[in-house]
Amino acid sequence: MSTTYDAVVVGGGIVGLATARRLQSVQPDAKIALIEKETEVARHQSGRNSGVIHAGVYYAPGSHKARFCRAGVTATRAYCDQHGLSYETCGKLIVATDEGELPGLARLHRRALENGIEIAALTGEEAQKLEPRIRAAGALLSPTTGITDYAAIARHMAAAFTAAGGTLMVNATVTGGQETGAGLRIETSAGPIFAAKAVFCAGLMADRMARAFGAEVDFRVIPFRGEYYRIQNQPPDLVRHLIYPVPDPARPFLGVHLTRKMDGGFTVGPNAVLALAREGYGWGDISVTDLAGTLGYPGFWRLIAKNAGSAVEELTASAIKRLYLRKVRRYCPDIALDDLAPYRAGVRAQAVARDGRMIDDFLFVETRHTLHVCNAPSPAATSALPIAEHIVTRLMGA
Ligand SMILES: Cc1cc2nc3c(=O)[nH]c(=O)nc-3n(C[C@H](O)[C@H](O)[C@H](O)COP(=O)(O)OP(=O)(O)OC[C@H]3O[C@@H](n4cnc5c(N)ncnc54)[C@H](O)[C@@H]3O)c2cc1C
Repeated sequence: MSTTYDAVVVGGGIVGLATARRLQSVQPDAKIALIEKETEVARHQSGRNSGVIHAGVYYAPGSHKARFCRAGVTATRAYCDQHGLSYETCGKLIVATDEGELPGLARLHRRALENGIEIAALTGEEAQKLEPRIRAAGALLSPTTGITDYAAIARHMAAAFTAAGGTLMVNATVTGGQETGAGLRIETSAGPIFAAKAVFCAGLMADRMARAFGAEVDFRVIPFRGEYYRIQNQPPDLVRHLIYPVPDPARPFLGVHLTRKMDGGFTVGPNAVLALAREGYGWGDISVTDLAGTLGYPGFWRLIAKNAGSAVEELTASAIKRLYLRKVRRYCPDIALDDLAPYRAGVRAQAVARDGRMIDDFLFVETRHTLHVCNAPSPAATSALPIAEHIVTRLMGA
């Protein structure tokens, strides 16, 4: 027996859940389902990230990332306030560890100002006064950056979705489907479903879902695992802010950072190494299909050719803990090898174009009855609520 819905959302990460909630709020009488292949929501990127509410310092002015992240800070805090969920606006320092990094810091400062982000440039001395255990030749202070638990937010959204009459189907994998005149037929492991419209927020599987439903896309999701360590043996006031390095402008990842957690501890990470399975959280997780898909994609080799140096550096730092530590000790010299305890990894879904370019901005692709979120890397957790608003506006054709 099949069921017909006004709208279906595929993917129970924070983007899919925020979208399902937004659909409910604009169409309270609509019959809406959310399909998730795992046994619960937020099992992938939304439950395995740094937990940072990004202020929006880094992103190209005018981009979706810049706009949605800025709006997302306010929206995320408001959501937490409204529903009694925790967050903390602890602020962050982006630190240049030597004179050579100061021009990069100055570029970031200009970008933050262009994006209308509250930011202060500090001398090394001023930074060290704020954070005595940090070594800095100069720093930027972003006072509005914060931390939260995105998995808790996602679980709250899922509960609110079902309480408002939505159908949450877990343990159901979308395997394919096709558009028909009036909507689409979605094949799932729990049987076929019919919908007038569908939004795909499938994260690491975004490209496969888009192709399965006939969307014209020419990119591939390349999975980059981010490995973290939990800091032990250090005092609870090791640092009061989040501490970030100056990022390499050629790469979309922000570098190994020292992050305060909502439970009071700290993590360092994430690095960025190729994952051998899209949902592979350790070196032992290998999917022949996923790996063949990555290695058979010309865009992957073009990406590697452009970034060979940093790929080797990341790989060695993954394999040799001492090299990973070196990245952290550049700005926090107190941390020792014994202080790094194992912590769960995450895998980023990064869309890569055929020419080897990492697609930087959020990317949405539509067909007649579908909208696919094709690229939603960081800061998409921060930006989930404004992304959802954008998706629903596009879907309604408003
Ligand atoms: C290491 C790391 C650190 C990060 N740090 C931050 C940060 O500090 N701040 C920030 O804002 N962002 C951060 N991000 C980014 C952020 O976590 C993601 O951008 C965001 O969670 C994306 O949400 P999503 O819903 O699109 O994807 P996901 O959370 O990955 O959800 C996709 C869902 O789709 C489901 N799915 C896939 N295929 C199917 C199918 N065929 N059928 C049914 N279900 C399917 C999956 O099971 C999954 O639950 C980080 C990401 C990583 C990996």
